[in-house]
Amino acid sequence: FFIALEGGDGAGKSTQVEALAQWIRDKGHDVVVTREPGATSIGQRLRSILLDVSSEGISHRAEALLYAADRAEHVDSVVRPALERGAVVISDRYIDSSVAYQGAGRDLSPTEVARISRWATDGLVPHLTVLLDIAPDAARERFTEAPDRLESEPAEFHERVRSGFLALAAADPARYLVVDAGQEPEAITTVARHRLDQMLP
Ligand code: C5P
Repeated sequence: FFIALEGGDGAGKSTQVEALAQWIRDKGHDVVVTREPGATSIGQRLRSILLDVSSEGISHRAEALLYAADRAEHVDSVVRPALERGAVVISDRYIDSSVAYQGAGRDLSPTEVARISRWATDGLVPHLTVLLDIAPDAARERFTEAPDRLESEPAEFHERVRSGFLALAAADPARYLVVDAGQEPEAITTVARHRLDQMLP
């Protein structure tokens, strides 16, 4: 069973990934927690390229391809093997982050970016994607020191990313849970647990 957590910078994904993983483990499942970019050794190298160069500039297509390469390696060496042995996989970011950041956020076609990722993953789609939705201004207010990315890109970029995520969720409501990420972390976990309770094997 494959779960992806998605959302803009500062939405609180990692807190939810940990809380949900613990809850699912307590139910007796083997749980693999993973993330993008950077879950594999190749991915670590791609992550440092991507996060280092983003401020100096990289062509948008090259950026999209590096994220897709990270994802291809991630699926092939972490996600699929875990799913095949029956584990529940929880990934902090997946395809939707590319569609939202490299597609909606930049000037690339979200459909084309999605197509690259579909090829990279050989069509692996999560059973449930939990979208932690928060306005970029509210995300920024949560931190005394905001995540770099919230500062290094203009507000409009983060607004486009947010709309990109919401458009994906709206197009396929059965496969998404959209949660207001401005709530207390415990309230968010409760909503996600409720949905997962009906879905987990
Ligand atoms: O989720 P995490 O903070 O590890 O992501 C690292 C950075 O990479 C974030 O600032 C996020 O904005 C960026 N990112 C991106 N495109 C993706 C995935 C992540 O720009 N497809």
